[in-house]
Amino acid sequence: MISLDPKLCKGCNICTEFCPKKVYEIPNKSDKRGMRVPVPKNQEICTKCKLCELMCPEQAIKVEGEDE
Ligand code: SF4
Ligand code: SF4
Repeated sequence: MISLDPKLCKGCNICTEFCPKKVYEIPNKSDKRGMRVPVPKNQEICTKCKLCELMCPEQAIKVEGEDE
């Protein structure tokens, strides 16, 4: 389970680039702040490696559960 706090996200897309499984998708439209907050769309293929959580400079991501 991935929780991404859109209020903390700055749309840097580090998470989309570092995720080895391409779990995140970048939306076509920006939010009210003009940022494109990635969507953890393909959560079923997430390996819970937590790279996205570690790399996010805003601590906006929490990956819950253990690696299986
Ligand atoms: S790394 Fe963090 S701040 Fe950057 S786009 Fe992903 S969730 Fe947002
Ligand atoms: S925990 Fe790993 S596989 Fe899952 S979304 Fe983050 S970087 Fe991708």
